[in-house]
Amino acid sequence: MNLKVVEGLEPKLLWHRFAEISQIPRCSKHEEAIRTYLKNFALNYNLNYNEDETGNIVIELKASDGFENYPTIVLQSHVDMVCEKNKEKEHDFLKDGIELIKDGEWIKANGTTLGADNGIGVAAQLAIAEENDFLHGPIELLFTVDEETGLTGVNTLKPNFIKGKILLNLDTEEDGTFYIGCSGGIDTAGYFKVEFEELKKDYSPYRIFVNGCKGGHSGVDISEGRANAIKLLAYLLLRLENIDYQLAYIHGGSKRNAIPREAEAVIYINEKDEAQIRELLNELAIETSLEYKKTDPEIKFTLEKLDPKSTSFKNAFEKKFSKKIINTLNALPHGVISMSHSISGLVETSTNLANVNYDSYELIIGTSQRSSIENAKRNISKTVQSIFELANAKVKTSDGYPGWQPNIDSELLKKAKNIYQKTFGVEPSIKAVHAGLECGILIDKYPGIDVISFGPTILGAHSPTERVNINSVDKFYNFLKILIHDLIK
Ligand SMILES: [Zn+2]
Repeated sequence: MNLKVVEGLEPKLLWHRFAEISQIPRCSKHEEAIRTYLKNFALNYNLNYNEDETGNIVIELKASDGFENYPTIVLQSHVDMVCEKNKEKEHDFLKDGIELIKDGEWIKANGTTLGADNGIGVAAQLAIAEENDFLHGPIELLFTVDEETGLTGVNTLKPNFIKGKILLNLDTEEDGTFYIGCSGGIDTAGYFKVEFEELKKDYSPYRIFVNGCKGGHSGVDISEGRANAIKLLAYLLLRLENIDYQLAYIHGGSKRNAIPREAEAVIYINEKDEAQIRELLNELAIETSLEYKKTDPEIKFTLEKLDPKSTSFKNAFEKKFSKKIINTLNALPHGVISMSHSISGLVETSTNLANVNYDSYELIIGTSQRSSIENAKRNISKTVQSIFELANAKVKTSDGYPGWQPNIDSELLKKAKNIYQKTFGVEPSIKAVHAGLECGILIDKYPGIDVISFGPTILGAHSPTERVNINSVDKFYNFLKILIHDLIK
């Protein structure tokens, strides 16, 4: 069925392989079937291949006669995909293939993610291996696993797994653009041992709820300057300083790579103060709506009286402890810290105040930092650690992953730009992304390797609206062939 959908599309070899790959379930961490497919491909064509314990595979393509002494070029993609579907869609990602649909200029899936990220890259690599009469030097086809849930495949690559010093990563999604940088990341969390005090007898529980913030990805959306629901809540609690309240609960945000959309707190107050709190809430709602008119027009502040009988709080946070938490949340930075000096418009360093979680004795504040500059990443993580330490919290950081600092003097970039210009008569755009790519880790693991990343136009990646532009695939693949051929001239 999928083969029918792509019938007549160019380049044939690529679309044929993409249709086949789409039949193979390949969610992150469930890559066995696609790995078998790749190994069978190598066996069928009598190609040497190698695999490591994690599941990464490299297939070697011998150079055309007379081209043996040219430098090896590595083509790289990841074999896993994000598995998301529409609520009403029945689909078992562990068993069912992706159903392709042609919609005008686009190929999309039926209610699920498409896996063009990075299935088109995988298909392009296989198509290159199947080309006849294509003159090229030695090529390594590198397929990594589990990119989408933490870059774990690329992270475990061994030093000699690939030999090439030129690498074309096929995992970016904008026709006519070369990516030459990405950010590294690290998580920094503060752990607080909660101190309690008794609830005051005549006080009643109220829930404060901040919602309607737009949120988004903590990397690519951080430059939008959107509101952070946790910061808004903390600011509101600070503004209540003239009212005697007891904080019994606070919670906000979700994933560490998402800008928090919602946050809530439960406070105990004397009922006579309710009106004053409402007034303050309204004031803040007006101020906030002016401040975030463009970015987050839907923000809401709600105060809701809770039924004391069905509210399970036995204690409140001790006064000083509560103040410490609110001050910490207020002091923690959120958003863009600095912009790049080499690529205009690129966020170089940022931090996300991601979540606050409370479970009966421990309160944890989670944050994450990104930067394309290794030292700047460490530095902003240290800033956050310092704030936690001033508040006597225990600090934990993740290992983090390295960024890819843009090198506008790269030899590969210069050549690729020239070849692009000669082929299409226009200059490619040169960009970097404020999010993680495998390239940062590849450069870290293989010192001296020269890397650029490019791909066809894919929209809505990671969601069921994912689609890939048909013409851009043709253009991408033709350019890939020309580039591989011309780089050895
Ligand atoms: Zn990808």
